[in-house]
Amino acid sequence: MDVQVNRVVAIEYTLKGDDGEVIDSSSGGEPLYYLHGHGNIVPGLEEALTGKTVGEEVNVSVPPDKGYGARDESRVFEVPKTSLPNDLKPAKGMVLQMNSGTGGSLPVTIRKVKLHSVEVDANHQLADRTLHFSVTVKDVRKATKTEIEHGHAHSPGHSH
Ligand code: ZN
Repeated sequence: MDVQVNRVVAIEYTLKGDDGEVIDSSSGGEPLYYLHGHGNIVPGLEEALTGKTVGEEVNVSVPPDKGYGARDESRVFEVPKTSLPNDLKPAKGMVLQMNSGTGGSLPVTIRKVKLHSVEVDANHQLADRTLHFSVTVKDVRKATKTEIEHGHAHSPGHSH
């Protein structure tokens, strides 16, 4: 069975930056299970995997417009320290979960700590970066009706 929309795909992957530094990898752990065709992984990788079969290896460089997008400076903003949790000692590089305003949470990275506020960046940490993936397809199966309804794979260890 090959990789197509509405199939659950297990992959082993290594993600590197332009400098060869490993950003993320499934090595030593479970493969990553995802539902193909539902935007669970970046579009460039999804495209590269379409039609591949178990055992195939894919090496692909994904540009930012098919990865995590371009940086948007309007997504950098200031948050008054009074709206941070009392016990939090803000530091540069710290990741906070903020309320997205639509009921979800939005991870932001602290860029600067000022006297009464912190400057945070809501851009994805991999925005603007070209992503170099090495992927091996480990398994492909049809998704269940529930998985398609939920828009994600129910893999080992999955919880809602
Ligand atoms: Zn689900």
